[in-house]
Amino acid sequence: MMKYLIINSGSSSIKYQVIEIPTETVLATGLVERIGEGSGRLKNIAFPGSDRELTTVIEQPIADHSQGMMLVIAVLTDQEKGVIADTAEISAVGHRVVHGGEDFRRSTLITPEVISVLEQNIPLAPLHNPANLDGIRVAREMFPAVPQVAVFDTAFHQTMPRRAYLYAVPYRLYEQYRVRRYGFHGTSHRFVAGECARLLEKPLDACNLITVHLGNGCSMTAIENGRSIDTSLGMTPLEGLVMGTRSGDVDPALHLFLKQNIGLELEEIDTLLNKESGLKGLCGMNDMRDIHSAAAAGDERAALALEVQTYRNRKYIGAYMAVLGRVDAIVFTAGIGENDPVTRAESLKGLDVFGVRLDPEKNNEHAGQARCISRAESTVRIFVIPTNEELAIAREIADLTSE
Ligand code: AMP
Repeated sequence: MMKYLIINSGSSSIKYQVIEIPTETVLATGLVERIGEGSGRLKNIAFPGSDRELTTVIEQPIADHSQGMMLVIAVLTDQEKGVIADTAEISAVGHRVVHGGEDFRRSTLITPEVISVLEQNIPLAPLHNPANLDGIRVAREMFPAVPQVAVFDTAFHQTMPRRAYLYAVPYRLYEQYRVRRYGFHGTSHRFVAGECARLLEKPLDACNLITVHLGNGCSMTAIENGRSIDTSLGMTPLEGLVMGTRSGDVDPALHLFLKQNIGLELEEIDTLLNKESGLKGLCGMNDMRDIHSAAAAGDERAALALEVQTYRNRKYIGAYMAVLGRVDAIVFTAGIGENDPVTRAESLKGLDVFGVRLDPEKNNEHAGQARCISRAESTVRIFVIPTNEELAIAREIADLTSE
């Protein structure tokens, strides 16, 4: 039995899980928030067996990631509510890393060389990669004797062909600065694709799929014979679908318009498109549950936001059907994709002519597990498959450390 610590380190937070392999049991899950701010907070939920849940909340200033990680270790090894006796029980640490650039086509064991490549990739993800590197640095200090594995959001999409990843801008920008589309959410797309292959009872490398990740961040991937051949997020996680607070596709000339007519600076435009746009920009809310309640109560903007988002989804599904030709299944995942039958139905509207037949009853059932929601005669099957990035990372560690 192995216990892995999975870490997702953000600029002011550390999300983590302890997972036991091969049983794939979650022993503890938690979040350290507001690191470096006045009032820090840690919430840990331990699952010591027989459906028991023990919650610990600690509120105190947390100066940096080191201190945050020390708190995590303290709760995990707590005599009463802990799930490990000491840190030696952790046999590997997995890190979610947002941007691996073109250097990583798959997960990798972290070495000093890997860290220096990640540092070189900071310009591609200036907000995320430094925070991921903080998590790696601290974990290497605290767990010096165990393998540390980096799992990249971008790696799954490194199989995209040039025609899909190049922007039609001067080629030298790609050559000199690696300006291109990378795609993100790769761990999630890959995970649900694997689960879907299992449900289809086919090897993944024989499956053509469209995976639709709709959460606060949203993206869609065209998967041909198990490999990503196109995806909606681009050089940064801003392109493509309408997201919670991110615009997705806009005319690139919008920047110039906003600067010339409103006097916005580039950084302000960046904030506007990343944090004040998407569903929030259209109707003032970015939580889909609030948007549905508001739309049901007659809020026209909320209804409009839903319409704009699902229309964009439909356009991308159609585009990816054209790219793939044969499609075995469309898979919905993440917060909205897993839980919102209205979004699923609207996103598939009008696709009947392409053999996509949703079963309204199955679509409306509420169930936490993977399931098929298409009619028997649908030539393209439709699935809802819960994503689980932490488990995907744990499986990557198991694969890498057994090689
Ligand atoms: P994620 O980023 O995957 O955690 O997804 C967050 C999004 O999922 C938010 O917009 C939530 O409002 C949405 N969500 C979560 N539960 C539901 C639900 N039952 N119905 C509709 N949307 C939901």
